[in-house]
Amino acid sequence: MKVFDLACEHDHRFEGWFASTQAFDEQLARGLVECPVCASRTVRRMPSAPRLNLSSAAGPRPETVQPAPGTVAAAMPTPQQLQALWMKMARHLAENTEDVGERFADEARRIHYEEAPERGIRGVATREQRAALEEEGIDVFSFPLPAAARETLQ
Ligand SMILES: [Zn+2]
Repeated sequence: MKVFDLACEHDHRFEGWFASTQAFDEQLARGLVECPVCASRTVRRMPSAPRLNLSSAAGPRPETVQPAPGTVAAAMPTPQQLQALWMKMARHLAENTEDVGERFADEARRIHYEEAPERGIRGVATREQRAALEEEGIDVFSFPLPAAARETLQ
C-alpha cells in the first residue's frame, strides 16, 4: 500500500492510498481519483516522496490524519442506499395513507373542508389540480413513487 500526497486544482490537500504507483497512475488517468473536498478530478501528486505504509491492520495509523478519498466516498449514501431509503419511505406512505387515485384533489378538498374524515391520502393530481389546492391553502406534496415501489404497493 502506498500513500500519496495529492492536491486538486483548488489546492485541497488530501491523501490517496493506492496498491502501487502504477495503480495510482491508472486510476488518475481514468478519472477515478477525486478530491474529497470539492470532487474535482483534476488531481496532481504533490512532490513529496510517496511513503510506504508499513503499519499493519492490527495497529492504528496515527500518522494518517486524512482519510483516503475512497473512504470519504463510502461515507456518502450510494444510489442503492438512497433508493432503499426512498422505497422505505414509499412503503411507509403507502401503509399510512389511503389510495384515492384520481379523486385525490376532490378528496383532499373534502378533508380540508371537513366534509370527509381527516386522514392521509395519496393519489394522482395534475399540475393544475395541485396549484388549485395550494391556492386554497391545502397542503399537498408530491412524492414520485419509484416504479418498483408502485408494483409492490398494488
Ligand atoms: Zn478540491
